[in-house]
Amino acid sequence: MGRNGEGDAGLSEFDLVVRGGTLATAAEVFEADIGVRDGRIAAVGLNLPRGAEEVSAKGLIVTPGGLDPHCHIEELSPDGAVHEESFSSGSAAALAGGTTSLICFLPQWKGHGLAESAPGYEARAAQSRIDYGFHQIITDPTPDVLEREVPALVARGVRSLKAFLTYDPLRLSDGEFLRVLAAARRHGAMVTVHCENFDAIGWRIEALLAAGVTDPIGHAWARPPLVEREATHRAIALAELVDQPIQVFHVSCEEAAAEIARARARGLRVWGETCPQYLTLSHDDLRRPDFEGAKAVCSPALREAGERDRVWRRIGDGTLDVVSSDHCGFSFATAKRSPGGGGYGQGAAELRPDGTPFFNAIPNGVPGIETRLPVLFSEGVSKGRINLPTFVRLSSANAAALFGLGGRKGSLAPGADADLVLWDPDAERVIRNADLHHAIDYTPWEGMAVKGWPTTTIRRGEVAARAGEVLAPPGSGRFLARGPYALARPRGVVPDGFDAASR
Ligand SMILES: [Zn+2]
Repeated sequence: MGRNGEGDAGLSEFDLVVRGGTLATAAEVFEADIGVRDGRIAAVGLNLPRGAEEVSAKGLIVTPGGLDPHCHIEELSPDGAVHEESFSSGSAAALAGGTTSLICFLPQWKGHGLAESAPGYEARAAQSRIDYGFHQIITDPTPDVLEREVPALVARGVRSLKAFLTYDPLRLSDGEFLRVLAAARRHGAMVTVHCENFDAIGWRIEALLAAGVTDPIGHAWARPPLVEREATHRAIALAELVDQPIQVFHVSCEEAAAEIARARARGLRVWGETCPQYLTLSHDDLRRPDFEGAKAVCSPALREAGERDRVWRRIGDGTLDVVSSDHCGFSFATAKRSPGGGGYGQGAAELRPDGTPFFNAIPNGVPGIETRLPVLFSEGVSKGRINLPTFVRLSSANAAALFGLGGRKGSLAPGADADLVLWDPDAERVIRNADLHHAIDYTPWEGMAVKGWPTTTIRRGEVAARAGEVLAPPGSGRFLARGPYALARPRGVVPDGFDAASR
């Protein structure tokens, strides 16, 4: 290279070189060094010249940094309650677990416009240590929200909306959902959707409570796979009517995945996400004694043990192509014991004699932002269920394409942000909450043995976590403004008269 100032940072071609690793991209696995300049990947090749900083990846696998496109962090309720997980703690946990970007949720409080819901939320998010973007939740799709606020938001780089078909007070009627889909189509946004049938769940809850069922397992009995399958089918049909691309969030079972597969076979722009809890946990976790089952209460509910293999098969055939955490932290000692608890229980919030809430009032959600990738790596790659390129697609590349970050995140190509994770594929660990960095007092994976662990996480060219120590300070993450992108575009297949009558 004609340089004689080796070791002198001012003369190095690269700020950082990650040397000697096995690189895994969404397409292939190969040996190479990665040269980083100004926070981006500048070169990939063998025997790159020395960088101002060198990180050895000998014996390690190098993947793009994880993108977690579905996490609930520091959410604010109209009554002033705030999720325990802060952007500082949640993003520290993310980094320690190999995740360098996240997409979380801007709320809309019913009866309020977007701007007046959760004031200050974006300032809170600016405390993130990793790069972050938003999905905008729509709970009250008034004309002003859809025709004035949504286009302004899209112009600022928030290019995805989130719709709930269940939970009070978040859920949309079919008519409201159609209006959200049509607005997204007009303004160029992706729509993500939580698919469960609210009324069917309510009917089941009443019947179970009348029969004296109050334990956490009642949560799964009240929300069997068919309530998810029905709402998934309905969401897809309504999206087809509008010709609007959607991603179905947190698919838990074969019945719902089959609806997505059928839609995709017909050429519809429908994608499906699942989460580690649906690949590894089951009813057994909900049946744990002493209210411990509450730790596994999330929606859709965990399924019977045999369902997990069917969800893995839907990863194998490409129907489910993103694995997010749906991180949603409610501590076991406090929030999980508070009826409602800001976590959208359904029905009357009653207490059992020991003071714990009935199953229907336990706040919904499990924490998993730090364990998402180690669990997926261990159960997927180490156990031979998926190969490394599939791991990269599930953990970052597909979500990047789906949410308008393709080429920038989830990639090891020159020009991409230098978000890198060094994995020791032979490291054997036992997951202990005491070792995790989130603010929550438990993990549903406590005691699980895993093989493969992220040893170093690099975010935009800086070593942000190493050997479990988080180095990036709060506020060092950047907002990810997203521009127009291919996968959010409709197919252009609409019924006669659609465009004249689609409002
Ligand atoms: Zn969620």
